[in-house]
Amino acid sequence: MNIILLGPPGAGKGTQARKLVDDRNMVQLSTGDMLRAARTSGTEMGRKVAAVMDRGELVTDEIVIGLIREQLLAAGDHGGFIFDGFPRTLAQADALGELLSEIGARVDHVIELEVNDDVLVERIIGRAAETVAAGGQARADDNEESLKTRLMAYYKQTSPLVGYYYAKGDLKTVDGLASMDDVAQSIADAIA
Ligand code: ADP
Repeated sequence: MNIILLGPPGAGKGTQARKLVDDRNMVQLSTGDMLRAARTSGTEMGRKVAAVMDRGELVTDEIVIGLIREQLLAAGDHGGFIFDGFPRTLAQADALGELLSEIGARVDHVIELEVNDDVLVERIIGRAAETVAAGGQARADDNEESLKTRLMAYYKQTSPLVGYYYAKGDLKTVDGLASMDDVAQSIADAIA
């Protein structure tokens, strides 16, 4: 079973994806994590996308589709894929459908995590503050300016996917403001 988690930055996609990995032996494919790993390891692609990510803009479809393709083909035995932060554009959504059909699979469920924008901003700014308080370094894009750009990118480029997957009949909407466990339960119900 392959699942897409859809929702704005800070909606809790990563947290819920990790839970599905633990509970169901699924494989989490987070393009944000892949791009951050590319930056850390200093690859040419990592250097190319760094400034774009820090501004909160989307990197090119070509780059993220390439990353997803590699991971889809490399994965061994598992309980299915969870796409977290991908697709983020209609072109990415089309490409994902094609890539999955190449390996004889499909998107089974799309879970939209619905949240309130004021809460999002608080969560993300809070997440950065907590990381710094714990002696870590906050993500370079967890600041108010970049967050505004990320939210705008979500509404302009990603939110049309809600309609796209609704029309395909794959969409389930879950209240992303509930507690972590309640959100996990709603997702479990939605994919049962
Ligand atoms: P968040 O959901 O908190 O915004 P992510 O970790 O998913 O964070 O993404 C961080 C950044 O990585 C994005 O702002 C964007 O620059 C880049 N990125 C991640 N996934 C994609 C994607 N599918 N398409 C384009 N850019 C992406």
